[in-house]
Amino acid sequence: MSILDNTLPYCRSCNQQHLQLILSLGQMPLANALLTADQLAWSEETFPLDLVFCPDCTLVQITETVPPEKLFREYFYLSSFSDTVLENAHQIASRLAATRRLNAQSMVVEIASNDGYLLNNYREAGILVLGIEPALNIARKAEAQGIRTVSEFFNVALAQRLRDEGMTADVIHANNVVAHVADLKGVVEGIGVLLKPDGVAVIENHYVKDLIDHVEFDSIYHEHLCYYSVTAFNNLFRQFNMVMVDAERIPMHGGSLRVFFQREEGPQTWEAVGRERVLRLLTEEQDWGVGQFAFYRDFGNKVAHLRRELLALLRRLKSEGRRIAVYGASAKSTTLLNYFGIGSEILDFVADRSTVKQNHYTPGTHLPIVAPEKLLEIQPDYVLLLAWNFADEVLFQQAEYRKRGGRFIVPIPELRVI
Ligand code: ZN
Repeated sequence: MSILDNTLPYCRSCNQQHLQLILSLGQMPLANALLTADQLAWSEETFPLDLVFCPDCTLVQITETVPPEKLFREYFYLSSFSDTVLENAHQIASRLAATRRLNAQSMVVEIASNDGYLLNNYREAGILVLGIEPALNIARKAEAQGIRTVSEFFNVALAQRLRDEGMTADVIHANNVVAHVADLKGVVEGIGVLLKPDGVAVIENHYVKDLIDHVEFDSIYHEHLCYYSVTAFNNLFRQFNMVMVDAERIPMHGGSLRVFFQREEGPQTWEAVGRERVLRLLTEEQDWGVGQFAFYRDFGNKVAHLRRELLALLRRLKSEGRRIAVYGASAKSTTLLNYFGIGSEILDFVADRSTVKQNHYTPGTHLPIVAPEKLLEIQPDYVLLLAWNFADEVLFQQAEYRKRGGRFIVPIPELRVI
């Protein structure tokens, strides 16, 4: 059943109603809704997952909005468990602290600040910080580490309240936020409200170009409502009188964009070369067809091809009596395993470094999640690496497993055995 049959979706950015279907992933459990042993007997809630393209503003998005209370009630992702994420956070914070000349009078705000992994860099440099993190259990962790944190959803009302209390931001970070929020315009408008006149908002998000080019379909899940190009970002923020003053591609999460905005009416204090980089990226996007449905249409075929290849490999290995485990109990894993229909008939268990995920079970497929040390203990013949975006990091950590003959299957961007 296509979403276009029974609902009348409109674009989350421009409100136009010309959405075109790119790919339907069918009914899916929530990607981060890991289960306890007790919950295995219950039936899991599933929601349709359909990816569409808006030809009017170029935004790629899904049509279903799962209520945020359901998505974030138990939130398992802790940024601090990834070295790559920590290093990226450290670099951008040092760079901004220096170039924006931040000091003890400056204020840096992060929306969806998680456990404070990013703000901590500023705090250590003596700069005031404020985290905004709706997940209570994680906000508490941040507070315990000395990161002042408001445990609420960010929107215009909260931004106004903070401003009324005298808190305005020299820098606002929002990493992977504008993909997640149902109240997209409320967040973007709120950023404008909370910024000082010459403040800068730094937005990081997965880049739709990398998603399409590298068949990163496992980045599609209910928490990710939107998939951005520079063009789509520009069209969205312009509605709220914000100007893109810089843009760059970064390697995070299989390919991301980092875009910088300042208020249109404020003094735009960013270096002029940033605007040139923005123009160059916008021109590049025109060239690859950012506004043409044809560019996105092929994506579904590539996903189907990957599915055939991976299933053939796993079934052959299984028929040869090989034992196969998984590395990474991430949201990505939920999409890939459920859409490809791979479960306990082929896979034994999932290893993950996150201690909050261990002793739970994967959504839909019900595989047990264990500590990575189990890989050495059990020594399965193959490990399907679904945290492929951290491949270098995981391969390095698992040097001993590999030395003893263990092999990794990396499905994305293209299927390979290491
Ligand atoms: Zn649109």
